[in-house]
Amino acid sequence: MRILIIEDEPDVAAFVKKALLEENHAIDIAHDGVKGEDLALSEAYDLIILDLMLPQKNGLAVLKTIRKEGIQTPILILTAKGNVPDRVAGLDAGADDYLVKPFAVAELRARVRSLLRRQSGDKISLLKTGDLTLNTVNHEVRIKEELIELTSREYSILECLLRNKNRLLSKGLIAEHVWDFHFSSDYNLIEVYIRRLRKKIESKSQQKIIHTIRNSGYIIRDIEE
Ligand code: CA
Repeated sequence: MRILIIEDEPDVAAFVKKALLEENHAIDIAHDGVKGEDLALSEAYDLIILDLMLPQKNGLAVLKTIRKEGIQTPILILTAKGNVPDRVAGLDAGADDYLVKPFAVAELRARVRSLLRRQSGDKISLLKTGDLTLNTVNHEVRIKEELIELTSREYSILECLLRNKNRLLSKGLIAEHVWDFHFSSDYNLIEVYIRRLRKKIESKSQQKIIHTIRNSGYIIRDIEE
């Protein structure tokens, strides 16, 4: 998934980025409110992590603009402002969750997982088709019982396709959700990763899992076992 962090303190931004990279997400960072708002309005994110005290434009104003523009991306406020009126103002302005600094990295990751699940409509953390399962909590991918070793990019692409089961995804759309901002223009790499993924998965599975739709993209269909 692709996540935007709007946070002016470089240490905090780097810490959050590292925590989420370990969960195989693609991360963009904006260090002020104006840049953050620009990115939130122009790029496709699956989640936004928003600080409140920001230079140029404060987080609450950024949040209000994002919602006013009709963008429904889940937003997690991550701030030192922990009193009740601040929390209420953030949630009432359209944030989905609120985490107060200092925070435990395990809790941040769990809240991010929860927001991403909620967004995709999954109540459970197991994504499935046929004999393939992907566990979004521990990142294990299995064919039947057998564990399949994937790189983090391969995992991210597979997760993206599985979360959007039965939907045709263009290379551009996959890239937008899997690569960060610096790499999102390189759509052709997707072909390379899909080829590797197929080799690892479909050699073990009884079924064809990733279907190519020529000149359009890729789709994983629901297969009843
Ligand atoms: Ca700040």
